[in-house]
This record gives sequence, C-alpha cells and structure tokens, in this order.
Amino acid sequence: MRKRVIAGNWKMNKFLSESVKFVEDTKEKVPTGDKVEAVVCAPYPFLTSLVESAKGSKLQIAAQNMHFEESGAFTGEVSPAMLKDIGVTYVVLGHSERRELFAETDEMVNKKVHAAFNHDLTPILCVGETLAQRENNETMSIVEDQVKLALEGLTDDQVKETIIAYEPIWAIGTGKTATSAQANEVCAYIRKVVAAEVSTEAGEAVRIQYGGSVKPANIDELLSQSDIDGALVGGASLEADSFVQLVEAGA
Ligand code: 13P
Repeated sequence: MRKRVIAGNWKMNKFLSESVKFVEDTKEKVPTGDKVEAVVCAPYPFLTSLVESAKGSKLQIAAQNMHFEESGAFTGEVSPAMLKDIGVTYVVLGHSERRELFAETDEMVNKKVHAAFNHDLTPILCVGETLAQRENNETMSIVEDQVKLALEGLTDDQVKETIIAYEPIWAIGTGKTATSAQANEVCAYIRKVVAAEVSTEAGEAVRIQYGGSVKPANIDELLSQSDIDGALVGGASLEADSFVQLVEAGA
C-alpha cells in the first residue's frame, strides 16, 4: 500500500502572520495515521517560522523551489543545504510555473532532484502537458520525456522515494479539473514508464499525485483511482478548513 501525500502549494500567497496561524490551526487537525502525509509548500521567508510552528506535529513543511548548487555566487538563490538546515523536509521541483515563467529546463530539474536527495529532501517532481499538447495527442510523450529526464541517474531507492505530481497545465488555476479517468490514465502511464526505465518495484512504490483544480468536492473521486496517490493543491489549500478536509480525504 502506498502512503498518500496531500500537499498544499501556496505559491506566492499569504503573509507571515497568517501563514503561522494556518499551521497553528491545522497541525492538530490533520490525520496522524499511516495512510496519509500532509505537506504545506510555503514561500521561502516563512519556512523557518512554519517549521518551528509545526514541530511535534505530523505536518511537514516544503519549499516551492531551490537551486541545485551547494553554495556560492548565485544571487537570489536558495540552496538545498539551507533548506535542510532549517528543517524543511520536502521540496517542489519543476513546477510548470517555474518551467514556463522562469525557464527551468528538464536538465535543471534533474540536477535539482539529485541535489534534493544529496541533502535528504524529498522531491515533489512536477510534470504535465499544455492544452495544445493534449489537443495534439502529445500528452503521453511529453510526460514520459519529463519523467525520464528528471529521474535520470537516480538509484532505484531514490526513485522509490520520489513523489511525482502530474499537473496538466490546462487544469491549473482554471477550475477545469481533468476527469478522474483522464488523470488516472496519465498517472498509470507514468507508473509504467518508471517500471520500464527503473524497475518494477520502483514503479509500484513511486507515489503519484494529481494536481489541477483539486478541491474538497472532487478529491474523493480522484483518490478513488488506482494510480492516484495524493494531490498537489493550489487555490483550495489556502484556507485552513479546506486544507484539513483535503488531507482527511486521503486518510
Ligand atoms: P490549483 O489547485 O490552484 O489549480 O493549482 C494547482 C497547482 O499548480 C499546484 O501545484
């Protein structure tokens, strides 16, 4: 049985006091059993406070990005060692907004995934196609390439620990959720790619989230699918009550 992961990606939202209040309000409410992990992916300036606030609870704190280099002359960047040092445990990598707006390439994403493992951070690796690619029947080949390139050079065990988030770009922030069948079809395909490229065991073990307009009203249906092991949620994760409901759906 794969443990589900429900992660709230706040993107560039909130201020310090409300983000700490969010963690205070949710940390005792998220289920503590072994069925589901709850993760909050917050902006850099809040991470230290949120790690402190979540201490002793099951809530995990993630960064939304990082650089792959260890240290040095990279003005404006944050290293994996810095995240580890402050107690962050997960990191979102290769989000479509970073790929599209900040020119992240598959090669950079691969370096970041390696850097995450070198510092004991669990990567949440995002992949997904644009609307034009879906309409051109390129979804599977695009996602396959993104997954293969991002995982290149990882050990079997590292792949098993990776969380892959399938986020069709046309479903992000649009209110347009992929149907559960569409989402599951791609998640199942990703699992097949991992099994073929890495090992059958890695294909079985890797956890695959769906992301794109997930909300309390549609999460049960998505999680009922064979190959969807959780969700990466933007808009609906900003409210404490809604986030708790989403995590409860995974328990
Ligand atoms: P929405 O849930 O707002 O569509 O965002 C999805 C997403 O990009 C999470 O990373």
